[in-house]
Amino acid sequence: MNPLRALIMAAARNEAVRSLVASAPISRDVVRRFVAGETTQDAVAVTRELGLPVTLDYLGEDTTDEAQAEQVVRAYLELLEALHAAGLASKAEVSVKLSAVGQALDESLALTNASRICAAAGQVGTTVTLDMEDHTTTDSTLRVLTELREQWPWVGAVLQAYLHRTLDDCKSLSGNGSRVRLCKGAYAEPASVAYTDPHEVDLSYVRCVNALMAGDGYPMFATHDPRLIEIIGERARWYDRARDSYEYQMLYGIRQAEQRRLGARVYVPYGEQWYGYLMRRLAERPANVTFFLRSLVSR
Ligand code: FAD
Repeated sequence: MNPLRALIMAAARNEAVRSLVASAPISRDVVRRFVAGETTQDAVAVTRELGLPVTLDYLGEDTTDEAQAEQVVRAYLELLEALHAAGLASKAEVSVKLSAVGQALDESLALTNASRICAAAGQVGTTVTLDMEDHTTTDSTLRVLTELREQWPWVGAVLQAYLHRTLDDCKSLSGNGSRVRLCKGAYAEPASVAYTDPHEVDLSYVRCVNALMAGDGYPMFATHDPRLIEIIGERARWYDRARDSYEYQMLYGIRQAEQRRLGARVYVPYGEQWYGYLMRRLAERPANVTFFLRSLVSR
């Protein structure tokens, strides 16, 4: 990992830096470039404005008590209700981080809470995808996924190409009805479990694309990388995949013209806990740091 990225990733986990940045006079623009806003209404408004399919993420990570997990569940239930009321539920699904609904406290609490979100999503006719966090949570997240899919077979999960294990996970999750969102991976992971050379990550991503395209599931390719997007299109032809049997996904605020060209699903984060998410986006690209720092001084 390059030194700047490592520094920002460390800052993302550092409480002192967190409170410094959170209290700094950050212009609304820099946060709004990557985050839809802080409220349910903001999330619904951005969904309507985008005019593309979306997956909405209520920002909140590393929940440390049950009350906080409950608040996250309630936020998702309120969101699903609001999307339904606005007639947007068919094009808007939700993404859930299990750590936000209690995974670190107790896996069964996370399962119960995620089940409540899945039940509400099912009622309004949409789906849920489980985000993937650092590698210490992968097994737990996949166990919860298996449980959820027994009742709601459409529950999807993210797999991260940078992990050595992911090709095997792609193969075992490529069956009929499965929904896998394949991304490169955004956490600072050790070389013992992850490829650390970006080229190796790309090669792993392509191997995973092959495994998913060869299966009968519904792959969701989450990347902004132009080379990978080209390869995915080429592999779709090779595996004779109809255009509606897989999709592209991109993050809110990144490569918007390409999102429209591909009809991609947009991952739209919202909520008051935007700090950790923003830091990961900044860490991905030095140019974003410049944009961020400039916004601090040019308000
Ligand atoms: P990169 O090589 O990082 O980027 C390719 C190109 O995309 C860059 O050259 C640039 O033009 C553009 N770009 C990429 N990032 C940025 C940025 N921040 N700002 C501006 N331009 C940019 N990661 C997880 O670990 N767990 C998850 O659950 C998860 N869910 C995701 C869901 C979706 C829908 C997406 C799109 C990503 C998700 N990620 C997740 C993040 C992912 O792992 C990568 O960190 C991120 O997508 C950047 O990788 P990339 O494939 O776009 O390739």
